[in-house]
Amino acid sequence: MHSAGLKRPIGFVPTMGAFHEGHLGLMRLAGSECASVVVSLFVNPTQFGANEDLDRYPRRESEDARMAESAGVDVLFCPSSDEMFPRRSTTVRVQGVTDRWEGPRRPGHFDGVATVVLKLFNIVGPDVSYFGLKDLQQCAVLRRMAEDLDVPVDLRFMETVREDDGLAMSSRNAYLSPSERSLAPELYRTLLAASKALANGESAISVIDIALSTLKSRGFAVDYLSLVDPVTMEEVDKPSPGTRLIVAARLGAVRLLDNVPVGGLFEGEDR
Ligand code: AMP
Repeated sequence: MHSAGLKRPIGFVPTMGAFHEGHLGLMRLAGSECASVVVSLFVNPTQFGANEDLDRYPRRESEDARMAESAGVDVLFCPSSDEMFPRRSTTVRVQGVTDRWEGPRRPGHFDGVATVVLKLFNIVGPDVSYFGLKDLQQCAVLRRMAEDLDVPVDLRFMETVREDDGLAMSSRNAYLSPSERSLAPELYRTLLAASKALANGESAISVIDIALSTLKSRGFAVDYLSLVDPVTMEEVDKPSPGTRLIVAARLGAVRLLDNVPVGGLFEGEDR
């Protein structure tokens, strides 16, 4: 990839493709703040576990290329796995913020994410890089990596883009059956109700208890639902600026992740 001819600042959006409005929102935000926009499309094998969906992850490169172009993207970088990972001798491992939530449930996932993002930064040489708060823990991991390793890229985080019924957009929503799809927005509705109750001063324990039983009664198998500090990803018992309510829950075979702000938005976040 040659960034030499691109005007600076260069905004960069790393993705795994199968674009939806969440990806396009990041590209447009990058375009509104930077002189050039680079997007990478790479279904990164190193962030998938052995029993995960690497083989069936949706791939639609030519449609993605058209969508990226219409969102004003200057370069769509689509490396092969061999180009990115001819060897796997070096890994970036971010500790602490990966101890909870997705970390233990997806061993090696965040190592794969941190390693590929650092490699992509080194290849593309962006000034600013854009990520979605939909993947809140991923944002915390990359923020920590950038700080710890003095990565000379500004990170920007954008609020989750949703379907009209509130479901957070995700390439994996395509796996939902029609009945699961109609149930799925309950996840967001439950988070919103819980967030409102917390903002009204109700205790986190009781609010989370009620949300858990609501989700269970609707047929979700909840992996976790918790109030967290978005920087440390540690559980907190009271909301403060930046605090978010996070959830991971399964509907049939599909695992849905979502989160909402509780104590107001955090510095650096964008609606
Ligand atoms: P992915 O292609 O799933 O790896 O996502 C690429 C980027 O898009 C990541 O920074 C994601 O957090 C972000 N993203 C995915 N879904 C959404 C969404 N619904 N709203 C905002 N950003 C998103």
